[in-house]
Amino acid sequence: MQYISDAVRQFLGVTPSDVARDHGLLLKHVVPEDAPQLRRSALVSVRRMVPWQCEYRVNTPEGDVRWHMTSAVPHKEPDGTVLSHGFTMDITDRKRAEQEIERLAFYDALTGLPNRRLLLDRLQRSIAAGQRTKAQGALLFIDLDNFKDLNDTLGHDMGDQLLSQVAARLVGSVREADTVSRFGGDEFVVMLENLSADLHEAASQAEIVADKLLASLNEPFALDGGQHYSTPSIGITLYGEQRLTVDELLKRADLAMYQAKAAGRNTQRFFDPDMQAAVNARSNLEADLRQGLARGELMVHYQPVVDHDGKLVGAEALARWRHPQRGMISPADFIPLAEQTGLILPLGQTVLHTACSQLAAWAQNPATAHLTLSVNVSARQFRQAGFVAQVLGTLKDCQADPHRLKLELTESLLLGDIEDTIERMEQLKKEGVGFALDDFGTGYSSLSYLKRLPLDQVKIDQSFVRDVLSDPNDAAIVRTILALAKSLDLEVVAEGVETAGQLGFLRLHGCEGFQGYLFGRPVPLEEMDAFLYPHQ
Ligand code: C2E
Ligand code: CA
Ligand code: CA
Repeated sequence: MQYISDAVRQFLGVTPSDVARDHGLLLKHVVPEDAPQLRRSALVSVRRMVPWQCEYRVNTPEGDVRWHMTSAVPHKEPDGTVLSHGFTMDITDRKRAEQEIERLAFYDALTGLPNRRLLLDRLQRSIAAGQRTKAQGALLFIDLDNFKDLNDTLGHDMGDQLLSQVAARLVGSVREADTVSRFGGDEFVVMLENLSADLHEAASQAEIVADKLLASLNEPFALDGGQHYSTPSIGITLYGEQRLTVDELLKRADLAMYQAKAAGRNTQRFFDPDMQAAVNARSNLEADLRQGLARGELMVHYQPVVDHDGKLVGAEALARWRHPQRGMISPADFIPLAEQTGLILPLGQTVLHTACSQLAAWAQNPATAHLTLSVNVSARQFRQAGFVAQVLGTLKDCQADPHRLKLELTESLLLGDIEDTIERMEQLKKEGVGFALDDFGTGYSSLSYLKRLPLDQVKIDQSFVRDVLSDPNDAAIVRTILALAKSLDLEVVAEGVETAGQLGFLRLHGCEGFQGYLFGRPVPLEEMDAFLYPHQ
């Protein structure tokens, strides 16, 4: 006698008597992919007389797919036939919860891509499989260039939008079998499997994919109605031959990525063992910089700024780092690092404080009281909460005249919340602080924005000044900047003036402020005396 519960009506829309007539009826509702495993496990149970449990999906009469679990114990009847007693449960809710947990644990919420954990798991399997099949695999470590700038200036929402679009492009540029994962922040890792067993061939296969990714990410992104450009740096390493750990492989791809950055960004590089040393040095540098700041190794040099008669009108404060072992380190080497790590905030404050104290000291002497000091301010520093109060507080603490302080901002600031930028500038301007736009011509600024900013000065980037006599294009840019500045009633300082020829050209076209080796290199304060009192 077989008993079939009435619940089958509710579960599958069939009656117990239908099922009693035809057992195959139940199986017809099982999702075809799950049926073989269901049949196999049921058979095993009956043959070996062991309890049976199976989870499988069924199609309901309403057209949904639900998860069922059947549990049964086989039992021999006196006549030798085997019957199983058991029950079936709907476990859809539990399955959904499990899938949700899996999604949360292994997938990135923003992009829906596999996360770091899932990548590590797949990589582990792939390395093991590669040992058997001898096929090479490749890891591509992708970091977006200047993502932090965009995030700091346009805000996190915009940053998130960009990351989602990047994710979609990466997925669209590789084969379905390849893994695209979000490794963290603005880092993505792509894992290519089953490349050629031949090392060189595999390398060129990986290179082709990297080029494809580069091209795809170089297309403009539509963010909030505007177009934005983002570029990636890609590091590549192959795996297959040697027995390397997951950690080691990722480290290699990461090192290669830094090599791509060092090569000017928006490019790709393969891992090569020499990189190791170079990048170890980088992480040491970060630790050193943190310590160096605390120990007062950061100092300020001053570079003269002169007027059209070559008379000193002020100076630019430039950060210097006197490393105990490595000697003087250029700001070009540690400012980007400081920006990435947030150390730019204490660093910037140190420079600002030094400059304000110097202004106060100069104010004591009639020969120097008129001099101005320009201080570089990074976008990240300018955007930090309380920046305005910090500057005003520092001026006050040092008893420096705000009218003698100029803050040099870069065009990257114009990328962001422009209203907020104007607001902050205006608050400082009200107290007398001046503003210069640094490295003018190299960034994103559009003229309409430029007009809206309460600027006093633009600085022509030294890259234009360098070739002003030999490159007609640079000459045209310099002339245009000078004409534009005049129409907007802005002062101009040309940077990087090294020769009398450059000076002549600049003066001819109306430039009135100059800075460069022709007049003086950045020097410690003591050596500024030579400029201050030239006739002594
Ligand atoms: P910058 O603001 O464009 O500063 C001018 C750079 O040009 C300085 O490099 C200066 O030494 C160099 N320079 C001046 N005259 C000449 C010349 O005639 N020929 C050549 N070839 N170069 C000349 P430095 O001091 O290495 O600074 C590099 C950059 O580091 C600065 O560029 C600035 O962007 C950044 N920086 C320096 N100090 C600070 C700081 O306190 N805060 C922030 N946020 N950035 C800073
Ligand atoms: Ca500057
Ligand atoms: Ca500059």
